[in-house]
Amino acid sequence: MFDIWQRCSNLLLVIFITAIIWMILGAVKALIFFSIVLLWMVFHHIRHLVALERWLQRSDHSVASIPPGTGAWNDVFAHLARYVRQYSHSQELLSLALERMRSVTSAMPDGIVLLDEADRIEWCNLVAEQHLGINLSLDAGQQITYLVRQIPFVEYLTARKYSDHLTLKQPRQQGLIISLQLVPYGYNQKLLISRDITRFEKIETMRRDFIANVSHELRTPLTVIGGFLETLSADENVNTGFNKRVLALMTEQTTRMQRLIEDLLILSRLENEQNKINEKIVDVVSLLHVILQDAESLSAGRHRIKLNIATQDQLLGSEEELRSAFGNLISNAIRYTPDKGEINISWEKYDGQGLFFVQDSGIGIEPEHIPRLTERFYRVDNSRSRETGGTGLGLAIVKHVLSRHEARLEIISQVGKGSRFNIWFPAKRLIALNK
Ligand code: ADP
Repeated sequence: MFDIWQRCSNLLLVIFITAIIWMILGAVKALIFFSIVLLWMVFHHIRHLVALERWLQRSDHSVASIPPGTGAWNDVFAHLARYVRQYSHSQELLSLALERMRSVTSAMPDGIVLLDEADRIEWCNLVAEQHLGINLSLDAGQQITYLVRQIPFVEYLTARKYSDHLTLKQPRQQGLIISLQLVPYGYNQKLLISRDITRFEKIETMRRDFIANVSHELRTPLTVIGGFLETLSADENVNTGFNKRVLALMTEQTTRMQRLIEDLLILSRLENEQNKINEKIVDVVSLLHVILQDAESLSAGRHRIKLNIATQDQLLGSEEELRSAFGNLISNAIRYTPDKGEINISWEKYDGQGLFFVQDSGIGIEPEHIPRLTERFYRVDNSRSRETGGTGLGLAIVKHVLSRHEARLEIISQVGKGSRFNIWFPAKRLIALNK
């Protein structure tokens, strides 16, 4: 309110002077005076408005370029100058923060690419340029799949499975192996993070090769030892008294070592990427009947084993690998279920997916162990596993077989009540049998 009266003070003064002139010199002179003053005031405002408009049209809005003003316009331009000063200060802070962000991301050992909703490159750091063979100054705005054309990468990008990683060998840079992960942010935008895992992959390959070679080298001497032990055990002159106990123990331990070596060799074959899966149509029903016979001979009548076949659907996969995975689960069920226990094996179709499961009424597993069971040599109870002839590699083999078949393992268990191991096969691997 006070502001309005202050702004009107000049006008009130003019009206007051006009009134005095009116009283002294008459109405005509007073009106002439009033009109001249009004015209001058209008001209004053128009002049400042034009100056303001010209300033607004300028490309640089610096404080120095703000036009000088008089009267009320002096205050308006002073406010404008204050606003411009504040604005440029916050702009400076923003670009400083942005610059800091860029130098942090540039200093990071990982590559970072910002992608828009159509997978076009918005920005990337130097490491990403090296990892992916792109050049920000030339490639900004380009769709990344035009530049990184490997099929697994294109599939990974379109699948949008953000929890997955992709390992990519970069042909343009010899020997470089990178791991990629896509992270969603903002409005349909994505962050592509790349990491150099060349060293890690080399160590992994060395580890795999070492285990495969050692296992292979141990296989022959063990077969020789096993053969001699068999011959000695068959010799009635040797296999007596103390010798008998020693020979039995040696045979048992040799068999254990042979099983271990066989499992290690199976694992390294499964891990070897060059070892492509030998896919054919597997008749699950007849495979399960064969496995059931093995199970019955392993159980030797100590358990009630039932096989339920709810679908005749076949599976696209490797018969040898599936036999190993199913066999391992069934052998575990037998080994971890006390005598007179029940074991159910089932092959079903559920929501279009293939479901194989083994359920036992055995000792069960505590919940904290379940996530680690598929790790090599992870055992809940070491002595029980060894006593029953376990190698500690069974579930690791199952995990690898399943990942080669795009299948998923689910473990449900209750201590003292039993366990159920479900294997879910994707619908695309099921082949319905035409009758
Ligand atoms: P192992 O040769 O020791 O059986 P696995 O890899 O097959 O090795 O299994 C890992 C561990 O998981 C086992 O040592 C055992 O403790 C537990 N386990 C596996 N299957 C069962 C089951 N059906 N019931 C109870 N425990 C099980």
